[in-house]
Amino acid sequence: MTTNTCVHPAVWLGCLSCNNSGHLVGCWFPCDMVEEVTLAEVHGGRQHVYPGCEEVVVLDSDYLPRGVSEISQSQAAAWGEILVDVGVDRWEEFLAWCENCSPSLDVNGVPSAREFEEADQGCWDSFREFVESWADDCGVFCQWSEEAVRYFDWDRYECDCRHDFTIVDASGGGVFVFRDF
Ligand SMILES: [Zn+2]
Repeated sequence: MTTNTCVHPAVWLGCLSCNNSGHLVGCWFPCDMVEEVTLAEVHGGRQHVYPGCEEVVVLDSDYLPRGVSEISQSQAAAWGEILVDVGVDRWEEFLAWCENCSPSLDVNGVPSAREFEEADQGCWDSFREFVESWADDCGVFCQWSEEAVRYFDWDRYECDCRHDFTIVDASGGGVFVFRDF
């Protein structure tokens, strides 16, 4: 197993009223903090909040799945909730799954952590390394003679396994493996 690169999803929250009047007012917030963000925080202090300031919009985002854009503050908060479930150390893996395995989405456009857990097989140096461990876990060689194991056709087995899994290159080297359902 290899370790994942740590990435933390964040959104740039801006004040709609200020931005409409030509003042770029806003700030980056990690998705798991978005729910509690106040108008004063978006403005960098209560003294910068004007009477017309009310609506907060997401104007940019980092480390959300490709294609996720123009989301609301509550949708950003929903991504923050799944971040808490999945964990920041597995976020890159989670993004790879979102972008390559077309999971089902809820009303906020966010997939389910349970579905991710079922599909996720972790990060491996190579797909072959995963396949060897998988075969072992499944008891493929149970009661086989040593000789039979030695002549096992790993290339063919690995090739067949490719139909049941999605393999995605990890940025830090190695591959993420997801089971297809
Ligand atoms: Zn404002």
